[in-house]
Amino acid sequence: MSGEDPDWSFDTLAVRAGQERSQFNEHSEALYLTSSFVFRSAAEAAARFSGAEPGNVYARFTNPTVTALQERLAALEGAERCIATASGMAAILATVMALMKSGEHIVASRSIFGATQQLFGTILPRFGIETSFVDQGADDGFHSAMRPNTRLVFIETPSNPLTEVFDVAALARVAHAGGALLVVDNCFCTPALQRPLRLGADIVIHSATKYLDGQGRVLGGAACGSEELMEEIFKFLRTAGPTLSPFNAWVILKGLETLSVRMKAQSANALDIAQWLEAHPRVARVHYPGLKSHPQHELATRQQSGAGAIVSFEVRGGREAAWRVVDHCRLLSITANLGDTKTTITHPASTTHGRISAEARAASGIGEGLLRIAVGLESTADLKTDLARGLG
Ligand SMILES: *Cc1c(COP(=O)(O)O)cnc(C)c1O
Repeated sequence: MSGEDPDWSFDTLAVRAGQERSQFNEHSEALYLTSSFVFRSAAEAAARFSGAEPGNVYARFTNPTVTALQERLAALEGAERCIATASGMAAILATVMALMKSGEHIVASRSIFGATQQLFGTILPRFGIETSFVDQGADDGFHSAMRPNTRLVFIETPSNPLTEVFDVAALARVAHAGGALLVVDNCFCTPALQRPLRLGADIVIHSATKYLDGQGRVLGGAACGSEELMEEIFKFLRTAGPTLSPFNAWVILKGLETLSVRMKAQSANALDIAQWLEAHPRVARVHYPGLKSHPQHELATRQQSGAGAIVSFEVRGGREAAWRVVDHCRLLSITANLGDTKTTITHPASTTHGRISAEARAASGIGEGLLRIAVGLESTADLKTDLARGLG
């Protein structure tokens, strides 16, 4: 394919894997903004369409820039193959549509991304696919939620916004014992900090919109796993259409080149902020897997090579006090997005988790005083000054 050396390490693959140079021998990856491809003859067209001859036909199926991204991300996740999609949600939808049928069942952590909860809880039931949601911190809950028709076990680790860490290897055993596949949304860690396939997961999902792009520019997603599973997802995608645009693929491909340094630097900044918050008298509790006080600190240390850049904390004084912190920010961006080099702050109870009932929110541990920050690359001294203003 692209001549990478099997001995290349992660940092080298992130910069080099998947590049196939054109006749111009460009140094930076080319962007092929074309929806279709031209054939030399009727026979070549027929052979490409039938699949007898490999090659590009139409960008809903494949495009060389998208292929380059897929190969690079597959190399980073240690996957046989990666399929890129229009968004993270498109990757989750494509996985379900490609691998499941009516009458089958999903076991999912309750602490998954809001849109994933909505997809599983309200849309899939219309197509005869049911989901059992398992509450946080209950690894046993997954085992008891399994049914004979369970096809997928779906988790996110660390979770949003409380950064709970799930044991991927243990949950892979639970899923496999029940004849199901373990799907891990690896959005918060990225392969720079965690490689779920090595721990026994079958499929890794990405919202490339977050850290893979890393600079808040484009939407994208991906699924990574075995050739066999990815071929099913590919067949769904080329027919149903939530394919990644080549332009977005190119942006994300360039984002991957700095992924490793960004994740290291943003994790270091996050630890600094988390320790500072933990010592602050107006802060009741900090949720960050890199802190010794985190209930799964030891598991996170074992399973991840870094703690990530998402920090949540509970401000004393409930919603009023939390909103005061948000409203005093001049540097941190007030937005629910994450995975950017710019630090963001959000109040989950009134934004990302605002549509969930107050009781359900309380049951999930998302209190009125909870704030989530996604730490970027600014100076942590400046970030602390900004947060201190509203903390009082
Ligand atoms: C943002 C996000 C998604 C959805 O990705 P989009 O690219 O917005 O469709 C899925 N999972 C997690 C954990 C996310 O943060």
